Amino acid sequence: MGIGEFWPVRTYQNFIGGEWVAAKSGERFENRNPADSREVVADYPKSGESETKAAIEAAKTAQAGWAAQTPVARGRVLSKASEILASRKNELAELLTREEGKTLAESQGEVQRAVDIFRFFGGISYTLGGQTIPHDLPGNLLYTTREPLGVVALITPWNFPIAIPVWKLAPALVSGNSVVIKPASQAPAMTMEVAKALSEAGLPKGVLNVVTGDGRAVGTELARNPDVAALSFTGSYSVGTQVYRQLAERMARAQMEMGGKNPTIVLADADLDLAVNLVARAGFGLTGQACTATSRVIVEKSVATAFTEKLAAKAKSLKVGNGLTQGIDMGPAVSVNQLQGNLEYVALAQKEGAQLVAGGNRLTAGDFANGWFMEPTVLTNVKPTDRIACEEVFGPVIAVVPAGDFNEAIQIANGVDVGLSSSIVTRDIKKAMIYTEKIQAGVVKVNQISTGLALQAPFGGIKKSSTDSFKEQGAGAIDFYTRIKTVYLDYSA
Ligand code: NAD
Repeated sequence: MGIGEFWPVRTYQNFIGGEWVAAKSGERFENRNPADSREVVADYPKSGESETKAAIEAAKTAQAGWAAQTPVARGRVLSKASEILASRKNELAELLTREEGKTLAESQGEVQRAVDIFRFFGGISYTLGGQTIPHDLPGNLLYTTREPLGVVALITPWNFPIAIPVWKLAPALVSGNSVVIKPASQAPAMTMEVAKALSEAGLPKGVLNVVTGDGRAVGTELARNPDVAALSFTGSYSVGTQVYRQLAERMARAQMEMGGKNPTIVLADADLDLAVNLVARAGFGLTGQACTATSRVIVEKSVATAFTEKLAAKAKSLKVGNGLTQGIDMGPAVSVNQLQGNLEYVALAQKEGAQLVAGGNRLTAGDFANGWFMEPTVLTNVKPTDRIACEEVFGPVIAVVPAGDFNEAIQIANGVDVGLSSSIVTRDIKKAMIYTEKIQAGVVKVNQISTGLALQAPFGGIKKSSTDSFKEQGAGAIDFYTRIKTVYLDYSA
């Protein structure tokens, strides 16, 4: 089905103890297509504390049986789920676009990422184990084992509604934990479809539980309930800090991955066409709604005008529209609130003295009338201390900040309280190397887009972007979901 043709509304329930169940109150909420808000895409139970308690109880009951299976047997379930998702890739990608708004190509990439992550952790299952350490005495064995934590809770954002749930679920499940997950209310459909795939792949009842609804009510129960051994959260700093405090009160294990204000530094020696291309992809791709999106470009003054002119031209050339349309470069904002927030930041930046050189407006004509669309936006002459240069916008808004030289560019890049991703565009290998050493960010790129991650490599921020004690993704992601036991065994007698 194409543009203008609406899908039948999908009615989802909570997934608790292997059953699809309504919220006790019977209350529900609906999601509309951000590209055409006349389409109701899906509706969900509005759950709170009691549904969350039931989900935790179901997870607790199922956990020991799941942990008793070998890691390889658990890995087979993930590999099978990977195959099931792959066989439904096109349908899932279209559903993702209808609910969250990103372009079909972006959704297909994201569904493929989920397929690959399950496959990766299916393989990792063959390597899960401990370490043998030489003992100081003969006839003694010293080794470690890896154990699951028990019930773990996952709270996820809307902007990667299948990749993020899966990059938390895969290491949690393969390690032998049971899970309660609460997806963001703007886009829960992908988590529901992943639950279906895992169930079909043979995941025992109760090992995975999904609860939708009120973030505060569900999230507070997940953070405070003593049966939840650990909680992994991805979302905003304001919510992340609240959840972290609740976990700290009972000293529960916490992993909080939050926002960024990601710079791309453009040096005077850079190929400006390459720089513009990288910045536009990293800043306007995914409608700027990526935690690793470039939202600040710090440009050496001598090339700032030339770079800005090219970036503005590129922004004006991008095709905005319904993500289901062929050839579209950028979809809508996820919601009217997100759109309004983006536009408010553009107005604020201009008040602070920035100059608008491309975009800045909501799009409302013709096909745009029923969606949350805005133009790709470039602001220049931004000062490092302006709010637009320091705060996450989470939309297609790029701030160009001129810098006197390389050292000042690094100083400006590091002058914010977050540190998620970053990039530099230069032909100077020495400066590139100094940048990799000095930049305060968890992801450091040279001549690449600040977005885009390898699933086999560790990911996470520093400073206020993350609690930074455990990384996500890569083989090391299992560290958060396991504990290590050290065994001393004397067989000398
Ligand atoms: P959000 O903080 O509003 O919501 C995240 C999740 O928390 C949702 O499931 C929400 O329902 C839930 N929630 C809301 N209130 C809660 C409460 N009081 N207690 C517990 N849970 C609660 O974030 P969002 O708008 O969904 O996502 C956008 C943010 O996520 C951006 O800041 C972005 O940078 C960040 N993000 C970070 C990464 C990363 O890996 N660092 C990845 C993607 C997104």
